[in-house]
Amino acid sequence: MEKPLKEIWQSVLAQVKLSISSANFSTWFKNTDIDLIDSGKVVISVPNNFSKDWLENKYYKNILKILRELDPNVKDLVFVVKKIGAKTSEASIFIKKEKQLDFNNLITNKETNLNNRYRFDNFIVGSFNEVAHAAATAVAEKPGSTYNPLFIYGGVGLGKTHLIQAMGNQIFQNENKIKVRYISSDKFSSEFVSGLQNKTVEDFKNKHKELDVFIIDDVQFLTGREKIQEELFHIFNALYEKNKQIIFSSDRPPKAITGIMDRLRSRFEGGTVIDINFPDFETRLAILKAKAQEKNIELAPEIYEYIAKKIERNIRELEGALNRLILFHQANNQGLDLEKTKELLKDVIKPPLRIVNPRNVLQVVAEFYDLKEKDLLASSRKKELVQPRQIVMYLLKEELKCSFPFIGRKLGGKDHTTVMYGYRKIAQELKVNEKLKEEILLIKKRVFVS
Ligand code: ADP
Ligand code: MG
Repeated sequence: MEKPLKEIWQSVLAQVKLSISSANFSTWFKNTDIDLIDSGKVVISVPNNFSKDWLENKYYKNILKILRELDPNVKDLVFVVKKIGAKTSEASIFIKKEKQLDFNNLITNKETNLNNRYRFDNFIVGSFNEVAHAAATAVAEKPGSTYNPLFIYGGVGLGKTHLIQAMGNQIFQNENKIKVRYISSDKFSSEFVSGLQNKTVEDFKNKHKELDVFIIDDVQFLTGREKIQEELFHIFNALYEKNKQIIFSSDRPPKAITGIMDRLRSRFEGGTVIDINFPDFETRLAILKAKAQEKNIELAPEIYEYIAKKIERNIRELEGALNRLILFHQANNQGLDLEKTKELLKDVIKPPLRIVNPRNVLQVVAEFYDLKEKDLLASSRKKELVQPRQIVMYLLKEELKCSFPFIGRKLGGKDHTTVMYGYRKIAQELKVNEKLKEEILLIKKRVFVS
């Protein structure tokens, strides 16, 4: 990004403003800022945990999309709480450090665009990915003849990029003359657009139509970009006619990608479509151990087990947790036990549910709506108090299974019929009011998980 961070964030905010009410805007975006942009990762600082939860749940996609429009290199977005007056958040400092710690000696081949850290020999196979792996090795053995096109899909951080690049690396290694190109969908789009601007679009087209193996990552990001889809469609046809190998990846199956033209979708579906699932516990353990070995570190068995138990759905996060432990180890030269591990990973690994009493519910609701607890206990009928109070009633009934009379007593001596009314009011409202639903979800999260 060339522009100063402040300016970028101002343009994001300007766009967000168009799509939400001004009350919401000032509640959730007040005192937010961009803290850092590093290797495509954008760190947004927010004033407190409520804003963090809210923005993560409601605005993640939207903000990411706007940022990507400003800069196609943006890959990911995180929200961090920054203490008032702090210069940079702790998270940003960590991200910088983590980046410096370059375990893998990244080398990207200029011609193929492939990164040499993604190989078959360091790709761990388990039941969650063995079908995808088998297809990938078959393709790498004989590109253009078995599974063509090959479409791999699966959730974030589950090894799609690793696997499709491993194919490219293997093919290129087997036969150096083969023309292989890997590209992310975003890069593909931005190259096309600058081709149009610089009048080099013919070069762009020809470059791709001459390939033997074309690998395009994360095609879900082509959503809504019709010109680019059109171009990909033509490149696909040109390659396919000549039995050249085409490999796609996406975070979802072709059917579930919206905003894609039907004829391109039917190309995605026209060969073999395979998913990568979630790894089971044993596999997660194996992955951790293999990665630790790769990085020349050995941890106590209970540490591997702890991480593998807690991080279930994302291999990148498994690696991230491991990296953090290694960072600590290097900086402190100190043995690592389970306690220390838990402490170091506390923001990555969600703590177990806590025991909750009515007071906690009251506190969280008051904090959420920026009210005083005693106002919720009083009987003022002010509009801004009535609903939060009813939410307390609702949660105490629904989540803590308290009786109506008990709730009435806890809320400053209210009649049980008042409580009943309040409870029903919220239950009713929840059926039609998305915003309320979202708020209650966030409140519940705060009450039960912090
Ligand atoms: P995706 O593209 O699906 O979001 P990536 O391919 O980027 O995921 O994988 C995330 C991280 O996890 C990478 O560092 C990758 O090397 C690692 N990884 C994923 N799957 C495996 C696997 N089966 N074996 C070894 N490392 C893996
Ligand atoms: Mg990927």
